[in-house]
Amino acid sequence: MEKTELQNAFKEVFGTEAEKTFFSPGRINLIGEHTDYNGGHVFPCAITLGTYGAASKRDDKKLRFFSANFADAGVIEVDLEDLHYDKADSWTNYPKGMIHFLKEAGYKIDAGMDVYVNGNIPNGSGLSSSASLELLMGVIAQELFDLDVDRLDLVKIGMQTENEFIGVNSGIMDQFAVGMGKANRAILLDTNTLEYELVPLDLKDNVIVIMNTNKRRELADSKYNERRSECEMAVAELNTKLDIKTLGELDQQTYDEYSYLIADENRIKRARHAVWENQRTMQAQAALEAGDLEKFGRLVNASHVSLEHDYEVTGLELDTLAHQAWQQAGVLGARMTGAGFGGCGIAIVNKDQVEVFKENVGKAYEEIVGYAPSFYIAEIADGTKVL
Ligand code: ADP
Ligand code: MG
Repeated sequence: MEKTELQNAFKEVFGTEAEKTFFSPGRINLIGEHTDYNGGHVFPCAITLGTYGAASKRDDKKLRFFSANFADAGVIEVDLEDLHYDKADSWTNYPKGMIHFLKEAGYKIDAGMDVYVNGNIPNGSGLSSSASLELLMGVIAQELFDLDVDRLDLVKIGMQTENEFIGVNSGIMDQFAVGMGKANRAILLDTNTLEYELVPLDLKDNVIVIMNTNKRRELADSKYNERRSECEMAVAELNTKLDIKTLGELDQQTYDEYSYLIADENRIKRARHAVWENQRTMQAQAALEAGDLEKFGRLVNASHVSLEHDYEVTGLELDTLAHQAWQQAGVLGARMTGAGFGGCGIAIVNKDQVEVFKENVGKAYEEIVGYAPSFYIAEIADGTKVL
């Protein structure tokens, strides 16, 4: 969206001028899935699909929100002094949570705001529209109230909103990628230490194709929480002989030698994924930096295999996309991205083959699954910013 378009839309809804306009990206994860709450590495990047915003301060203590994506809900108004989760407030619970936790952390937000939102990330498809919205609100508050807040603190408050306000027990990857992203860079983040590296993403003649299953994630939150507790139990079992906090501390060899301590077959598989996926992620970064894109692609494929068979978070739709993508000409690698159970996959495809790729994968998917997937080309964007 253009800045003037945003300003006009704001004026149409609120009848006043917008003070500032903003953009907050979505994200894809190249590799390193379900490792962020296991103390491992992730390798995401921010994308040009995202959430636009326009906002102004008010003279009273009212927070008024409007989203073009939830236009039927109209303007939703809440009280700055009484911010609690309320299902009836719909999508505004995300920005409410951000403001609540910013205030709780001591940042001075002493007046209301009018906030206009308009996004082009398909919601609930694993490209993190929620983190995009959270960071958007964080940066709006920072700019309108001149808050002296580190970007990393906004990232943490975003995660806190997701965990404690919305009630989704997710790790830090999404908010980190959205908040800290840089154009044409992927972020290798060690979720144990929060040390990170911005790695140039030189894919040569290839582009990243996002493949949307168009399947709404079902049971995703409960399955997600189940995987988390399976991994925590596995850590406890390993700790009868080891002394680790997270599975990310183990290499493959050490894990294999001690996996006999885990009493349940499913937990052996879940923990194996967490350990191996973390190692694969570091290897993928090394391959990328060495310019070995074939190896990078194979590691991406291996990630999907592990998520399909060991972590069991894929399902027919994501498996069909990945398996079909692997068979196409000019494909370096393909896998699911995000939490799984529906949502999106990514494929690294030679730019001259993209049209044929979309046609072939789309046709096969429709035959097997019964409806069409969607495709987008991902360009790698900067983190949340003022326009
Ligand atoms: P994901 O983060 O994978 O897209 P979530 O279920 O975590 O899926 O978050 C989607 C929710 O985030 C939406 O249902 C809505 O409440 C909120 N949201 C995301 N983008 C927007 C937007 N542009 N306008 C209003 N709400 C949004
Ligand atoms: Mg989300």
